[in-house]
Amino acid sequence: MSECLFCGIVEGTINGAVVYRDESVVAFKDINPRAPVHILIVPVKHISTLLDLAEEDQKLVGEIYSVANRLAKEQGIAKDGFRVVANCGAAAGQTVFHIHFHLLGGRSLSWPPG
Ligand code: 5GP
Ligand code: ZN
Repeated sequence: MSECLFCGIVEGTINGAVVYRDESVVAFKDINPRAPVHILIVPVKHISTLLDLAEEDQKLVGEIYSVANRLAKEQGIAKDGFRVVANCGAAAGQTVFHIHFHLLGGRSLSWPPG
């Protein structure tokens, strides 16, 4: 069994409310939602932080944003607006070290974030 929580969800050994899956990207509901829609979009490939993205991952990041757009439409938050955010490192609030993009929407989101 993988030691990484999100690898476990990707592999299906840890329960996650998966809403999207393809060969390179998986999306599931955040366990502690901060907005009416709060989905985490992750690569199947384990990458610890945004700083660990390699040149070969450029296409993968594009695919993640395509999934974000698709899910925003499916979840009914595309028209009003939504946010996609990825925290990198402890000071930014990253707590799980398998990169993930938060898709947030369904309420008004303040700026700047805390
Ligand atoms: P970070 O703080 O690293 O940017 O975001 C980690 C996110 O993962 C948090 O929003 C947190 O609620 C979520 N999370 C932590 N553990 C689990 C879990 O076991 N399952 C799911 N679905 N989300 C989790
Ligand atoms: Zn992982």
